Amino acid sequence: MTVSQKIHRSRQTKIVATLGPATSSKEKIKALFEAGVDMYRLNFSHGTAADHRARMQIIREVEQEVGRPIAVLADLQGPKLRLGTFANGPVDLETGQAFRLDLDPTPGTTTRAPLLHPEIFAALTPDSDLLLDDGKVRLRVMRCGKDFADTVVIAGHRLSDRKGVNVPNVVLPLSPLTKKDLADLEVALDIGADWIALSFVQRPEDIIEARKLIGTRAALLAKLEKPAAIQSLLPIMELADGVMVARGDLGVEMPPEDVPRTQKLIVREARRMGKPVIVATQMLESMITNATPTRAEASDVATAVYDGADAIMLSAETASGDYPIEAVQMMDRIATHTQADPTYHTGLASQHPDLNSTTADAITAAARQVAETIKASAIVTYTTSGSTTLRAARERPDVPIIGLTSSLETARRLVLSFGVHAVCTADVASFSEMVQKAVQIAYHDGIAQLGERMVITAGVPFGTPGNTNVLRIARVEENGDARQISMTA
Ligand code: PGA
Ligand code: MN
Repeated sequence: MTVSQKIHRSRQTKIVATLGPATSSKEKIKALFEAGVDMYRLNFSHGTAADHRARMQIIREVEQEVGRPIAVLADLQGPKLRLGTFANGPVDLETGQAFRLDLDPTPGTTTRAPLLHPEIFAALTPDSDLLLDDGKVRLRVMRCGKDFADTVVIAGHRLSDRKGVNVPNVVLPLSPLTKKDLADLEVALDIGADWIALSFVQRPEDIIEARKLIGTRAALLAKLEKPAAIQSLLPIMELADGVMVARGDLGVEMPPEDVPRTQKLIVREARRMGKPVIVATQMLESMITNATPTRAEASDVATAVYDGADAIMLSAETASGDYPIEAVQMMDRIATHTQADPTYHTGLASQHPDLNSTTADAITAAARQVAETIKASAIVTYTTSGSTTLRAARERPDVPIIGLTSSLETARRLVLSFGVHAVCTADVASFSEMVQKAVQIAYHDGIAQLGERMVITAGVPFGTPGNTNVLRIARVEENGDARQISMTA
């Protein structure tokens, strides 16, 4: 399949939308794309394999209809820990009271509850904290053994069956891939997900383990939502293809006041490494039930855009909210208006990462500078693996990056990256043929007008991944009768 580009979006920050019960019909999924979605997220914490399969089929139909590559992220649930059940319905825990957790499956009472995860007890020490139900209840461990923990309630609240359990600051001996994840991963790869997200990553080894199973069949995204992952941030990021600032769980496991600086740290490091980063969770939370966001939410979306995140994400807003399309439209408007602020680009330029002393980095940085100096209408990259295009995205240029590739898989993966307009095109045999094709695509897709110039980078000889060594300037010209577009250096 050749996917040609017909629509060019000028928004540089990409939008990820989670599909769910509110957005499973073809009509809704297509409307989401038209509202601005670049990547769909299939959340394997909810729904059946059949649900995800059906949604994927619709996405690929929409992709054909709109003629644009579309990225799909399969998000695996990971080792989400849960409390057991209670004998007589919810219990109210009072601050200061004693509460015991143990491996006994007998339903709980006001003074004890089952926690059927031996690995938690194995890792706890006195003074560890346990957070229940998104941090509404905090328990401090006083005494513990291999099958119990006696705790005191630091923050009390009502507690009911099967609530989530977080153990911050403790590295649990857990594989990032549960039995359920392994089965879901098979489904995700079978339906052709472009990206696989791993939840609750704790260690670099978690990424290595997942990579062994996934190979090159999909790109791998690490969800950063554990303080342990932040402790090993750089090695984890080196091993992953992209990351998510998963603020939902992250904000439970670390104090909310530490989330903003952690978000900024991750976005900065991701740019430095040239890997896409998604800022996720609660971005337009109030739009689950309201047609407009709070001012604080609008500012939060804008902050991620100012910071140069590759993508911003919607969860329940689009999966189960009352205003899924409106939420995407709102996100699109906030990002577009923020991008139009003159301080947006000066800010991104001032945070330019240091260059490696390689030909590839030098050529890519030069491409941005040349493009800005001659007011080029685009930077064109030709890529097989995606690396030449990712290097250009790292520059955060103020012109579109056309990511030309003969690989549909690469085109779809690149959709997530900052400012990249991915185009899948038939293989080209030579550099000049590629330039010719790039100019035609840019012209026909409305990115470059007649007389405008474009800056082109690629690796020569062709087909050597990771090698960016040529820079060329081309002009869009009209010659002869037809709208024949050619290039001159
Ligand atoms: P989740 O991940 O929605 O799968 O929990 C995102 C987050 O924790 O922020
Ligand atoms: Mn999470």
